[in-house]
Amino acid sequence: MNIYSAKSIAEVTNFLQSYGGESLILAGGTDVVMKYKNGLLKKREVCNTYGIRDLRYIKETADSLAIGPLTTHHDLAESKLVHKYAPPLAQAAVSVGSPQIRNRGTIGGNIGTASPAGDTLPALMVLGADIKLLSSTGERTVNIRDCFTGPGKTVIKPDELIFEINIPKLVEGEQSFFTKLGARSALAISIASAAAKVRLERGVFTSVEVSLGSLAPTVLYQRLTMLEGERLPNKELWHRLQFIKDQVSPISDVRASAEYRKQMAVALLFEGLKDL
Ligand SMILES: Cc1cc2nc3c(=O)[nH]c(=O)nc-3n(C[C@H](O)[C@H](O)[C@H](O)COP(=O)(O)OP(=O)(O)OC[C@H]3O[C@@H](n4cnc5c(N)ncnc54)[C@H](O)[C@@H]3O)c2cc1C
Repeated sequence: MNIYSAKSIAEVTNFLQSYGGESLILAGGTDVVMKYKNGLLKKREVCNTYGIRDLRYIKETADSLAIGPLTTHHDLAESKLVHKYAPPLAQAAVSVGSPQIRNRGTIGGNIGTASPAGDTLPALMVLGADIKLLSSTGERTVNIRDCFTGPGKTVIKPDELIFEINIPKLVEGEQSFFTKLGARSALAISIASAAAKVRLERGVFTSVEVSLGSLAPTVLYQRLTMLEGERLPNKELWHRLQFIKDQVSPISDVRASAEYRKQMAVALLFEGLKDL
């Protein structure tokens, strides 16, 4: 394996243009190093971006947060801006791995890995984040909801770098949450996770968007129009949410059975929504 340490964004895009499908971007390395160790990655040309300071920031614009891909989970968890304008992302970042993983792992790497269990992804989905991609031939924007095509698969091309994530700020009347069920409190990849963004007017849902992790080959996003326009007592909310079990297609693995994951999908959404 050949590792090249890029010092600027232009060096990264030039590198990707030269090596295309043979190349790989390295950010914090928490996923990449494990995959190389387990023989799951063979790409020979690696571009280490970790030292590029210009890719690590959280900035406020008029109606959004702009986040650099090298922003770590720790940065997100500590950011007042993220807590204020994108609270589910802060909650998701806090729940990632251990302090060591949160200090090293990045939001760009979480998106790039495209795991159905990636914790920032349900949060980014309900918030409607845009992913800005850069190559030596130009720039394009993909909404996160259109980004994932399968486990570990995205629409990001081999010569493209995630260079910014743009998150519309929550506005007045909107509430949101991220919640995760893991086997242990630390270092736990999620058994199931859920995020939601709702708009409430005098206690009535006027818009309900939800996202679920570890419940299908990709993180799922759905608008629940059947919950909109009514004030639902808890018993009715629980009853209505049962349909989620038919919308998901989880696997059974060492962490949980598919049936348990389906039940947890309902339970996580119910617990989050009933308290809003
Ligand atoms: C012990 C342990 C516990 C963990 N716990 C959790 C957890 O609880 N929740 C969770 O979500 N994850 C967890 N992870 C996974 C991992 O830490 C996260 O996915 C992390 O966000 C990856 O970021 P990274 O910077 O280390 O990515 P890297 O490993 O450097 O890269 C990951 C992928 O993203 C691509 N990539 C990185 N940056 C870019 C970019 N700018 N443009 C395009 N592609 C890019 C890389 O090419 C690679 O394919 C855990 C990992 C370990 C080892």
